[in-house]
Amino acid sequence: MAGIPYGQTIESGLVADLAGYVPAAAVVERGQRREARYKLRSALRRVTKLKRLRSCGLPFGSDVVVRRKDAVHHYSGISTCGFGFACPVCAAKIRFRRADEVSRAVVSALNQGMDALFVTRTIPHSAEDKLGVTLGLLAEGRRYVANQKVVKGVRKSAGYLGGIAAKEITYGFNGFHPHSHDVEYYEHAVSLADFAALSSVYYDYLSRFYRQHGFEGLSRQHGVHVEQVQLDGVALARYVAKLQEGADIRLHTAQELTRWDLKQGRAGSLMPFDIACAFFETGDMALLDLWYEYERETIGKSVIRFTKGLRARLLPNEAEYTDEQLAALKVGGVDVVRFTGWFYHKIVRVPGLESRVLTALDTGGFPALVELLTVYHLDDVGGYYQVEDTSLGEREGLPMAALLDWMELSKGQRVELDEDGVTWLVQAPVPGVTAAQKIRLDAASATRLFDFLLLYEERLARWRDGLTP
Ligand SMILES: [Zn+2]
Repeated sequence: MAGIPYGQTIESGLVADLAGYVPAAAVVERGQRREARYKLRSALRRVTKLKRLRSCGLPFGSDVVVRRKDAVHHYSGISTCGFGFACPVCAAKIRFRRADEVSRAVVSALNQGMDALFVTRTIPHSAEDKLGVTLGLLAEGRRYVANQKVVKGVRKSAGYLGGIAAKEITYGFNGFHPHSHDVEYYEHAVSLADFAALSSVYYDYLSRFYRQHGFEGLSRQHGVHVEQVQLDGVALARYVAKLQEGADIRLHTAQELTRWDLKQGRAGSLMPFDIACAFFETGDMALLDLWYEYERETIGKSVIRFTKGLRARLLPNEAEYTDEQLAALKVGGVDVVRFTGWFYHKIVRVPGLESRVLTALDTGGFPALVELLTVYHLDDVGGYYQVEDTSLGEREGLPMAALLDWMELSKGQRVELDEDGVTWLVQAPVPGVTAAQKIRLDAASATRLFDFLLLYEERLARWRDGLTP
């Protein structure tokens, strides 16, 4: 909480907390998905050939701390591999943040009077093959089309500025099937004629490229798909969903998959994480080889890429992060539980327990965590302890009621604890600016506020004692 300007930011933060209310059903669903990702990463650590993935999620220092932000718990003090394709945990983080970045870039473009098109490019099924081959073809095909004089001409007349490209990989009937999702930006509204011309040259030249390499049958319908992006339309939402799909793990289908399904193409198209899940279910080494191929070919590849200069134009005031930096980005929040390193390694050794720790804290707080760890006989003394309550409890002579009595946020704001134990943030009216309001604080928000006030109180005491000027 250090560094928050007194009286202001804290309030807006609290209001944001309250607005971000998440229903219990969504917590369970989110918990299941998180658990699937953590479980898979934990299994992958034992087989992966990527060194950083082997240590992703392990403590890099002595302690691991669980922090809470917006009622969701997360780890800090662990290493992150930052693989947006091969790591189920990092992929989810990176893709979630990239999707947010892309949405904001679209909003910014439309606000500046630009137009945006959503372009999907696939490869013919006849070209499905080893991933190294298909990824190469996809990139080469894009370059081939972009370098055509006709394409350059149509783009120029439509006011083409650049684009954001995202690569996705599935496993199809005959092998790996990569495809790309782009948002292309245009200086002004794209006319119907330009839209038609772009759709047609994009398809014609891509189809010609594949034919020249011996692959017939680029789908008329799905080969190249161009769509207008509107803020209120479905295209943007779908793009954002597509971007996150790369981190998807099907929750219940893993046991239904076999190598036979893949050979028969019965499963149609599989997400790469399905391949890994299927290996752990069946032990089929051919699946592991497919997974290794995926790891090898995606290492060092970024999830999305802006063409040169576009990012600065659309998101001028934002820092640019690499995938690795995004995966390691600090989420913030308050410290809740601290695990010693040796103890955390014990948790890591139980498949799936890393995420169940977070789910227990999300749903039942510290008591639920104690219960969970006891079930696994992980009740070692000194292995872990609660942070927040001890920090409040240790402050002798400052019981909660006294604290609430003592503190007066400013003349306009105060905190009240009513007889039902509910905490309220009370804002006096500021004539001509805001009306009086009373905001009910949930437990997480109240904790944040108390942390802040304790910090403030400590500073005040030090100032009084003359320790600081
Ligand atoms: Zn990772």
